[in-house]
Amino acid sequence: MSDQFDQLVALDAEHVMQTYARLPVAFVRGEGTRLYDAEGAEYLDFLGGLAVTSLGHAHPAVADAIAEQARTLLHVSNLYYNAVQPEVGARIDRLLGGGGKVFFANSGAEANEAAIKLARRHGQTNGGPERYHVVSAYGSFHGRTLTTLAATGQPEKQERFQPLPPGFRQVLFADLDALEQSIDDRVCAVMLEPIQGEGGVRPAPPGYLEAVRALCDEQEMLLIVDEVQTGLGRTGKWFGFEHADGVRPDIVTMAKALGNGMPIGACWARTEVAAAFAPGDHATTFGGQPLAASAARAVLDVMIAEDVPARAARAGDRLREQLAAVPGVAAVRGEGLLLAAELEGGIDAKQVAGACLTAGLVVNAVTPTAIRFAPSLLVTDTELDAAVAIFSEVLA
Ligand code: PLP
Repeated sequence: MSDQFDQLVALDAEHVMQTYARLPVAFVRGEGTRLYDAEGAEYLDFLGGLAVTSLGHAHPAVADAIAEQARTLLHVSNLYYNAVQPEVGARIDRLLGGGGKVFFANSGAEANEAAIKLARRHGQTNGGPERYHVVSAYGSFHGRTLTTLAATGQPEKQERFQPLPPGFRQVLFADLDALEQSIDDRVCAVMLEPIQGEGGVRPAPPGYLEAVRALCDEQEMLLIVDEVQTGLGRTGKWFGFEHADGVRPDIVTMAKALGNGMPIGACWARTEVAAAFAPGDHATTFGGQPLAASAARAVLDVMIAEDVPARAARAGDRLREQLAAVPGVAAVRGEGLLLAAELEGGIDAKQVAGACLTAGLVVNAVTPTAIRFAPSLLVTDTELDAAVAIFSEVLA
């Protein structure tokens, strides 16, 4: 490590709350699938800021949109009309099949907060004051605000922040009986990821989301699908729930890839559900401000022009096949370009991710025994092959 890097570490320790166990590198520049550190060393980025930079770093169309908007109007209050927001809303609605409206937030957790508040308003309006409970799954991740943490099915993350807001219960993921047994007339919504991302890249098994949709219809509950990690082409479809047959959620949240690094989140809901929010019910200062909305508009336009779901599906097939053939990999799971390589017994994923970083490949240990791959959806075959070569060398 250079003296400069040591100084940065010391400065960070002195002035920044130590909530992250940071890895020993500071990236200063990016281009497409490549990242560069302060010493000029190059890395292949197969994490994409945790599925954020789906068009790669410094995408010219997104950079131009941001620069142009920054010179024009960064921000207006949501008390006034915003010329860009409805255009982004229209694109999102079209990708989701139409018939819905969008609330703009600044992050995944905030998009989920909006979803939970909306589901409560809808439930209480239609089913009385007690109908505000949300059922989610163990292993899920919905955010770190107190409410989204209450929805997150990871007791070890919740423990230190008790008491959490009431009205949340968790059931085993992919276990329909458990879900059915947890339902009573106080439940207003079921909230699920189509592939549990932070939970280890675990896809819902075939038929599960379809059955949950049917149960929600039968019990008059809303189906909230958290697409913060899986949405916008990542899994080889526009949205992860599209891997299930004919499922249409009532609420869909997204964030990460929507701004390609510009902080923006969105909560889409069917128009009838969206109507449960009246003016004043929910708000945010920055949500959907012109700068973030311009970035999102450019991102969606590039994604549509490039047909990123098709690209992710194709590249994902190639990556999956190659990873499965690497000695030391026991299995590969996930969809499209959200994949996890489960390592053979005894191999420590954290150590492997650390060694990959040293060798110039950015990936992360999504569980103690699995490595997550989530590169740009515009990744080339050459970059895929190069990444797998580094990963194989590290495992060897
Ligand atoms: N929901 C899912 C599925 C996520 O993967 C994440 C973040 O990893 C979140 C919500 C929270 O998003 P944010 O970190 O932008 O608040």
